[in-house]
Amino acid sequence: MTDVVRRPGDPAGASRARPKKQEQEKASEEVTEVAPGVLRMQLPIWMPGLGHVNMYGLIDDKGLAVVDPGLPGPKSWKALKSRLATAGLRLKDIHTVIVTHSHPDHFGGAGRIKHETGAELITHKAFTTWSLDRRSQTLSTIDAERLEQEAIDEAAAYTGPSFEELPALAGDFDEFTVEDQRQSVPWGGPTPWGGSTHPMPSLKRRVMIRAMRLVYRPPEPTRRVRHGSSIRLAGRDWFAVHTPGHTLDHLCLYDPEHGVLLSGDHVLPTITPHIAGSANGDALHSYLATLDLVAQLDGVKLGLPAHGHPFDDVPGRVDAIKEHHAERTEALRAVSLAIGPAGVVELSHELFPQRHWGVMAESETFAHVEHLARAGQIERWNEGDRLVYRVAPLPGG
Ligand SMILES: [Zn+2]
Ligand SMILES: [Zn+2]
Repeated sequence: MTDVVRRPGDPAGASRARPKKQEQEKASEEVTEVAPGVLRMQLPIWMPGLGHVNMYGLIDDKGLAVVDPGLPGPKSWKALKSRLATAGLRLKDIHTVIVTHSHPDHFGGAGRIKHETGAELITHKAFTTWSLDRRSQTLSTIDAERLEQEAIDEAAAYTGPSFEELPALAGDFDEFTVEDQRQSVPWGGPTPWGGSTHPMPSLKRRVMIRAMRLVYRPPEPTRRVRHGSSIRLAGRDWFAVHTPGHTLDHLCLYDPEHGVLLSGDHVLPTITPHIAGSANGDALHSYLATLDLVAQLDGVKLGLPAHGHPFDDVPGRVDAIKEHHAERTEALRAVSLAIGPAGVVELSHELFPQRHWGVMAESETFAHVEHLARAGQIERWNEGDRLVYRVAPLPGG
């Protein structure tokens, strides 16, 4: 899915002439060792604000595990094999694939690797992706290059799965089920905040997307891990850290021996990941809580993100992202105070410049306004099929 690109603390309306962000850089052909036994291999992606995804290769004496093997499609597949060759590795050396979360730039190549190598495929317990429509399986010829573009378009339009409430940090992170995830909003379906619908791709495009899925199958995990599960990679134990917020099924991996955090899209070096609101929970609360969780990991010293360069100050980056959301939340309160009772669409139009209007901006606004509502700082009620919000009067005000 798309990560909305904004600088932390930068209202979306600021100047358009910005230096290129590291997450936007085109995929380099270089393969670099970024931590002991951990290779960074960049795969090309074509999504708003993103130029590459980092596939990490974790080397051990049996071969390697790869994390987040890129978008579906022949271009990414070719780059993946070429990067392996640069590192002196072959496809069949891959014994494990780990997917940090259910966005196509992360899971796209996973099903094909599993199919061709028999690799184990590890995700969080709640992982799910688009479901294959069996009725479309009669398509006989597939133009892979053309389909790739369709998949990319879909990736750009992807609005993310639904969200359930985060249990207390001290409690169980794993009460989510795959079924919770499957209740994501369908194409053309109403949004939970009302007043708009999710965009429906053209019939031709929907058919093409389904055909694409036959070649680059949505991955079916062979092992679903829980918060705290241990996974042996690169000859040492890593711990699964469940980090819901960007998606419900987001997983980071932590290597306490070297203080290395594979941070996926949870913590990125210069941009903030999109937080999709849900009718069922406070996604922003979950996100902020699990940011604290990774910042507080004992001895964390190196973040390996899914987009952008390795970064060394994970707690500092967490502080900056939290600050961004605090500013956003404050801006939302101010807008609500200024315009009075309003729905999510209206609020998002006040918060985002017109070029960003649409379901993504609304979904992000929904996450923030629900966060305030659940904290008792904004009132919410239904008007027809639409949720309406108003800043709660200050005590004595
Ligand atoms: Zn993502
Ligand atoms: Zn991503």
